[in-house]
Amino acid sequence: MEHMVKMAEHFWIFEEDGVRSFFFEGDERAMLVDTGFGTLKLREMTAELTDLPAFVVNTHADRDHTGCNRDFTEIYMHPAEMDRYQNGLPEGCGMEGVLPLWEGDVIDLGSWKFEVILTPGHTPGSIMLLEREKRMLISGDTIQDGNIFMFGAGRNLPAFRHSLRKMIAMADMFDSVWPSHGSYPLKGDIIPGILKGAQDLAAGKLPAQEPPRPMPCRRYVCDVAAFLYQAGS
Ligand SMILES: [Zn+2]
Repeated sequence: MEHMVKMAEHFWIFEEDGVRSFFFEGDERAMLVDTGFGTLKLREMTAELTDLPAFVVNTHADRDHTGCNRDFTEIYMHPAEMDRYQNGLPEGCGMEGVLPLWEGDVIDLGSWKFEVILTPGHTPGSIMLLEREKRMLISGDTIQDGNIFMFGAGRNLPAFRHSLRKMIAMADMFDSVWPSHGSYPLKGDIIPGILKGAQDLAAGKLPAQEPPRPMPCRRYVCDVAAFLYQAGS
């Protein structure tokens, strides 16, 4: 597997086994969106791409997105995610340098401008990043065609459905969707299928399968993605 893929000028993807991070070089700063499981040395890898100072934005605080946070000094996430982050701090991480990003904030890198969109459900403070001019959406774990984790603390299926409706209403603002898992890039036309799947999941209409590895959940497959979910959670 190629761990680093250059997607465009000043835009790279880091592929770890099962999770993806995004790196954007701006005019004076660079931004790393998520930091994976921590098996890749993302600090060193990004430093080889640019001399500009880099900061981290976490789409959310699950451990597969925060593994290299310890190697950075400036880390942004939505405040609704900070408890979750603090309660499961990755090894070597503290709360110093962790800063809030609110809905509507614009991360201005000069040549890239990303607007923060709050999309709770997968986790309370899950965010997406919308680049209006380039019509790109970084979607975290909420819009993807892989296994969407919807069991355990902090998951909220009604909120997840609400967030998908919110993104369907904004779908004329982006052409490409860049998820943390599954295939990429996606298009916005996958979102109604995920919403339909989440509705069918809530209504008990999707058949239960065994999860891909031992986990306290079942796997529910819809037309465009799958959910790892525990009924009643
Ligand atoms: Zn994830």
